[in-house]
Amino acid sequence: MNDPIIALTFDDGPNVTITPLVLDVLEKHDVTGTFFLIGKNMTPETEPVIRRALSMGCEIANHSYNHSYMDSMQTVEIMKEIALTEDRIRSVTGHGAAFFRPPYLAVSDEMYESIDHCFIAGLGCEDWEIEVTAKERIRRTLEQACDGAIILLHDMEDNYPTVEALDEIIVSLKGQGYHFATLSQLFKAKHIDPGDHAITRNKIYSVVG
Ligand SMILES: [Zn+2]
Repeated sequence: MNDPIIALTFDDGPNVTITPLVLDVLEKHDVTGTFFLIGKNMTPETEPVIRRALSMGCEIANHSYNHSYMDSMQTVEIMKEIALTEDRIRSVTGHGAAFFRPPYLAVSDEMYESIDHCFIAGLGCEDWEIEVTAKERIRRTLEQACDGAIILLHDMEDNYPTVEALDEIIVSLKGQGYHFATLSQLFKAKHIDPGDHAITRNKIYSVVG
């Protein structure tokens, strides 16, 4: 039996405050994660942060350009949200992203039809709510953890409780024998090609395999 695998994912960056702290924790434990970036947050100021994530082996993914609800958008608008973000991702990484997470996890038929990426949801702990303490974020995350799970966290501005929680989440999962993977590595390990539309169409993944 193979060791269980888990993917840590972080939404709403990049920024120059919380994203570097998240990277510090990942680096300390020698693990990687996947960052779902908001296109408009990818600026000359934040580019070094993205480059650092890449140099650590982290993966970059698409979380739209403006972070608006996209389920009420027309196809043209949807495609613009994706393309503007892809342009910025490509300018830093040299290639497009394989994965997309809809803002607020809001999806529509139009989105599934016009976005080529593999859709990702994830297992969250409501870490965008300031009332949810670091301790509670740890508890909720560990409670949901399983082989193939995609853990959904936020490296948004001021989200210090998640930075605090992340350290213990990683230590605990490591103690349980989990290996940490980027989303591409997780899908590969589970023998699913995220680019194969015959398999991934109209699906949004929270657990792989
Ligand atoms: Zn978001």
